[in-house]
Amino acid sequence: MRCAAYDDYVTRYKRPTAVEDYLTGYPDVARRWINRCVSCGRVGFKPDMPDDARGAHYIKHELEPLNLDDAGQCSVCASAGARPRST
Ligand SMILES: [Zn+2]
Repeated sequence: MRCAAYDDYVTRYKRPTAVEDYLTGYPDVARRWINRCVSCGRVGFKPDMPDDARGAHYIKHELEPLNLDDAGQCSVCASAGARPRST
């Protein structure tokens, strides 16, 4: 069980595993609102995620907005010319 102190610790130090735990627990939220770059694995929320979506406050606090292009790449990878992992 997590206590308030633990949640405070997670919030302050932004441990990436905490939000990953959350998304694992709410796969429907992750599927609907989370983008993951196919090249570098960077995770962020879709920029059009509404503030009243489930978990939006938490997710927007923990993650950055992440746009993916048609190939599923973030802007960093797209501009670097990285190729999607296809194999
Ligand atoms: Zn990327």
